[in-house]
Amino acid sequence: MQLDQASTEQLREWESALSAQYEEFKAAGLNLDLTRGKPSSEQLSLSDAILDVLGHDLSNETNTDLRNYGGLDGIAECKRLFAPVLGVSTDEILIGGNSSLTLMYFAAMFANHMGFGDLGKAWSDGGQTVKFLCPVPGYDRHFAVCEHLGIEMIPVSMNDNGPDMDEVEALVKADASIKGIWCVPRFSNPTGIVYSDDVVKRIAELGKVAGDNFRVFWDNAYAVHSLSDSAPELANLMDACRKAGTENSVYLFGSTSKITYAGAGVAFVGMSAANLKAFKHHLGMTQIGPDKINQLRHVRLLQDSNGLAAHMREHAAVLKPRFDIVLKHLNEGIGDSGLLSWTAPEGGYFIAVDTLPGLAKQVVAMAADAGVKLTPAGATFPYGKDPQDRNIRLAPSVPTLEEIDRAMQVFVTCVKLASVRQRLG
Ligand code: PLP
Repeated sequence: MQLDQASTEQLREWESALSAQYEEFKAAGLNLDLTRGKPSSEQLSLSDAILDVLGHDLSNETNTDLRNYGGLDGIAECKRLFAPVLGVSTDEILIGGNSSLTLMYFAAMFANHMGFGDLGKAWSDGGQTVKFLCPVPGYDRHFAVCEHLGIEMIPVSMNDNGPDMDEVEALVKADASIKGIWCVPRFSNPTGIVYSDDVVKRIAELGKVAGDNFRVFWDNAYAVHSLSDSAPELANLMDACRKAGTENSVYLFGSTSKITYAGAGVAFVGMSAANLKAFKHHLGMTQIGPDKINQLRHVRLLQDSNGLAAHMREHAAVLKPRFDIVLKHLNEGIGDSGLLSWTAPEGGYFIAVDTLPGLAKQVVAMAADAGVKLTPAGATFPYGKDPQDRNIRLAPSVPTLEEIDRAMQVFVTCVKLASVRQRLG
């Protein structure tokens, strides 16, 4: 289907055939959902052994009573397990509670309002405006953190190898009130791309050109979430920072939300020793210590990097067929017609598509009318505003293979019908 070469008559024929198909879907009373970027029950069950691994044996290498308060930065064996996931040393990691988003929120709030201890004052000290760079499309909850803290967001474009670094560098050099950038560097939410080595190096160097106490928020939520063993690796940001002398300019985050239990995992943050000192000081005002028993359970379940990799292969076996169905429908139903562009991620939880300009909201609304729930258009942009109204995030992890198959038939029909109607004017 090539719209730009089609006659009006041809467009009308397509419109009537697609409308008929669409009405059939509507009449079928479907109730399908491609919105939820969370693990399916089948994936959660992969970790059920975690409920039994401890028995009553809470012994640990430091002989601390894990049932008690304390240990704000987490237990040593858990640091050893997850430091390689972030690519930091065991002195540069804190293991927290069940949510990396909480750690990100605290990190941004402490930086904005409380400062960096020996490293300097809070971003908002003196009432100055604080801005963040937001590569788009991106993760809505990152944007919500900024909005909640009153941090102004500046969208920057995403390329296939990461944020447009020419744009990022120019903005950061020109404006010292830009204090941070959100990054999901491996299997980015939602495009699934992996930052190239060159982009990682340039990100590590931002600390040299940015204003005081600039911080990269490196949310490596999908660090080990590849769909196959051949997926691209991510260069080590902290090593690049060590070379550039910018270790203090980065915060690295991760969690086991999509490794073990999304609601009962462990989250971690990697930072230079100086950053960690200030962060722990502030965090210590909010709690006496994390759930160390859950940390030990994670160590007993996953053991080490090899155990973690084996566990992630089991996730991939559940997830990959779901991604394959989405891509099959896009390739076969849309192909090279130009009605839609998308990336074929090699990991993560999402497939992002771009419709023709001005159609994303309409496609999402049409799909909803036919019983297929999609993430609201605009959600992947700061303030919920996609200036071109193009981006839609598809999340295939929760529905069954049959449900995805059906939902994608509806989705492809909606994209084609909306595009033909737009062309007809
Ligand atoms: N970061 C990204 C990029 C995510 O996509 C998600 C969840 O979808 C999270 C963080 C949430 O992480 P957590 O469950 O550790 O708070």
